[in-house]
Amino acid sequence: MNARILIHLDVVHPVTHGRWHRVAYLRRLPHPGEVITMMCGESAPAEFVAAWPMDEPALTTCWGCDLAYRRAIGIPVLPNHPALAHP
Ligand SMILES: [Zn+2]
Repeated sequence: MNARILIHLDVVHPVTHGRWHRVAYLRRLPHPGEVITMMCGESAPAEFVAAWPMDEPALTTCWGCDLAYRRAIGIPVLPNHPALAHP
């Protein structure tokens, strides 16, 4: 019997340049090296590491992804959202 490792795709967040992003409608894990496009439009090859998010030094939110995600699922966007100030 194998030990199945279950990964909930809603909590897969790519990290680039110290920012964590969102990927819309991820239906499977990307293959290592496969280029994925985040909701903010940034693209990068996928890489996997085993770590707690707390182990990553000072990750910040990608506000472009946050704004796109909010709009996609109908979460209200406040007028002072950071992505609106620096589109
Ligand atoms: Zn992003």
